[in-house]
Amino acid sequence: MDILKLSKTVSNEQNAFKFLKNLRWSDGLKCSRCNSKSIVKLKDKRYLCLNCKARFSDLSGTYLSSNKIPFDKLILAVKLFVLGLSALETSGELNLNYKTVLSLFDTMRLAIFHFNSDDKSQLSGEIEVDMRPILVAKGMVNKAEVHLIKYQFLG
Ligand SMILES: [Zn+2]
Repeated sequence: MDILKLSKTVSNEQNAFKFLKNLRWSDGLKCSRCNSKSIVKLKDKRYLCLNCKARFSDLSGTYLSSNKIPFDKLILAVKLFVLGLSALETSGELNLNYKTVLSLFDTMRLAIFHFNSDDKSQLSGEIEVDMRPILVAKGMVNKAEVHLIKYQFLG
């Protein structure tokens, strides 16, 4: 989805949450603990699994469960990450705290790593990635020195 269409789709917090919810349950609502589809919705917008009695929300068990960024900005931040913007550039574009965006980007890198490594047996011991950090810019943000670093794959 291009950024123009995406920004219209997630034009506010409520639409953005609906967008995330539809992505999360694209295979149907199921328990995040036991995968049962015997679920009832509770008054507090959480769910109760009738099989294992677990209570969970739309984001339980996802990388977004501890997210502190408004959902509309979060989705746009993910798009900017995909487009290759740095955390510093993204924080500026979306008027978000740099460290919050950096944490989100680290979480996404971790999620990509986990997604790409289903066969964990191939990933034991020390893992080396051939990437070279490149200092693009240096500056001050809130009295803290910030380095804008991009990584380039070698080889
Ligand atoms: Zn369950």
